[in-house]
Amino acid sequence: KKVADRYLKREILGEGTYGVVYKAIDTETGKTVAIKKIRLGRQKEGVNFTALREIKLLKELKDPNIIELIHAFPHKGNLHLVFEFMETDLEAVIRDPNIFLSPGDIKSYFQMTLKGLAVCHKKWVLHRDMKPNNLLIGSNGQLKLADFGLARIFGSPGRKFTHQGDSDIDQLGKIFQKLGTPTPLQWPDLEWLPDFVEYSSQIIQPWRKLCPTASDDALDLLSKMFTYDPRARISVQQALEHRYFTSIPLPTDPAKLPRPA
Ligand code: ADP
Repeated sequence: KKVADRYLKREILGEGTYGVVYKAIDTETGKTVAIKKIRLGRQKEGVNFTALREIKLLKELKDPNIIELIHAFPHKGNLHLVFEFMETDLEAVIRDPNIFLSPGDIKSYFQMTLKGLAVCHKKWVLHRDMKPNNLLIGSNGQLKLADFGLARIFGSPGRKFTHQGDSDIDQLGKIFQKLGTPTPLQWPDLEWLPDFVEYSSQIIQPWRKLCPTASDDALDLLSKMFTYDPRARISVQQALEHRYFTSIPLPTDPAKLPRPA
């Protein structure tokens, strides 16, 4: 029996960067899965590499807060990656006008995100594409990090990180607009960075003004996570140990988090 016969294909879930994502039933377990079909035709090497990287990373990162790669196999010139099926993602939750997130709910999502990221960093893996749309949510309310296509093993020899088109600069611009540009006083090594250009410094807005409804604990944690100098910045592990996560309100039990109808 061919491996591909194991899965009963259902509807298309969406179109990703490298190909179509299908919903399917795993006849071996009876579970619903999401199959990412990666084209290996054109641009052969690039796609191949990215896919293999994703496989290798995911296999090493088994954790309740990281998406599980159940199976990977080639079929008809395509690479198929079988993931556990996830109901929704954090972007959909945030955008849903019928969902109100309490401070405890936000704390719960925040904590699950950091837990997943802590596992990555422990294995020297950088996710490099952290955004609500890549934080998938299962039927039990568990949040899991997904889409490691851009991730890289930290310190992989002889390779430089690639720019993601305009989006790096775009993202930096957005951060600078809110938090001001970094100063040599805040970040002494700044001027030695590749592509460094002198920026006219901007007025720094206080965190309280940026997030008027957040608690003092939350703002303290955010300011530590958004510290420009990586040497001075809080680690994910330290962030998880921040008092924000043990102060009232406690993180909501994932099973009790509000979900899209
Ligand atoms: P991109 O490469 O653009 O980030 P993906 O390839 O990760 O997109 O996913 C494409 C679509 O498939 C998304 O809209 C997402 O909703 C859906 N999808 C991806 N993974 C899963 C999953 N594990 N469970 C359910 N849906 C998924």
